[in-house]
Amino acid sequence: MVLAPRDGSAAYTGAAVDAQELMRAGIPHLYTGVLEHLGVVGPLVVPGASACGSCATLARRDEDEAWPRLLAQLIDEGPGRARLPACDGAVAAAVAGLAALHVQLYLDGAPPPSVDGWCELSAADGMVRRLRLRSHPDCGCLWQSSAPGRAGTMA
Ligand SMILES: [Zn+2]
Repeated sequence: MVLAPRDGSAAYTGAAVDAQELMRAGIPHLYTGVLEHLGVVGPLVVPGASACGSCATLARRDEDEAWPRLLAQLIDEGPGRARLPACDGAVAAAVAGLAALHVQLYLDGAPPPSVDGWCELSAADGMVRRLRLRSHPDCGCLWQSSAPGRAGTMA
């Protein structure tokens, strides 16, 4: 399942309610989004085997204490917010193509770079960067899979 809300907030893994249901059901899911000039593909979450969207949010919070407030502003539907934030069309097309490729790689059994990471595409320079994501110790999404006697996480 690909999570790509029209407001682009999935670029920052903001829609946690849907993700919790997918995690409970064990359904792999991929976050994608475009906010203005920046496109994001990932993380592709394999429940119990890779870092999840909450891990990404917690990691960003660790890097920037203001992150939760910024994320709340990004997904706020208050009167001051534009109904459809700006979205670069070329970046959106690239994100859609890259997301489809990552899903195809996953379905073919080859872990794409969005597993335990995410890719950012910038309209400013056309570069695609891969950022690494580790499971966050406060998240707990991999606690069960790391218990003694259980298989470890994907390499
Ligand atoms: Zn997690």
